[in-house]
Amino acid sequence: MAEKEYIEREALVDHLENAKEILWHDISLSSIYAAKLVDIFLACVKVFPTADVAPVRHGHWIECNYGLTFECSKCKYPTEYSLTDYCPNCGAKMDGDKNV
Ligand SMILES: [Zn+2]
Repeated sequence: MAEKEYIEREALVDHLENAKEILWHDISLSSIYAAKLVDIFLACVKVFPTADVAPVRHGHWIECNYGLTFECSKCKYPTEYSLTDYCPNCGAKMDGDKNV
């Protein structure tokens, strides 16, 4: 099974509203039908149930003790073993901006 992906409802609604606006500016019959279809999509999107997901925290490993140890930029969890893609303590995904 493919990995699940999640989208933000508000961003999708904004995108569909913009698409509908563009379609309404075209006076062809097919554009009017397409705009009405977008209205149906919008109604579906607005009432579709939400998924139970937690926001992803992004962090990075900070080198300490001249590279002998590392710590999580989010929770300061120390490690001296192989660096993992996620912090084993707080769950932060270690792909965050190193300048933050
Ligand atoms: Zn952490």
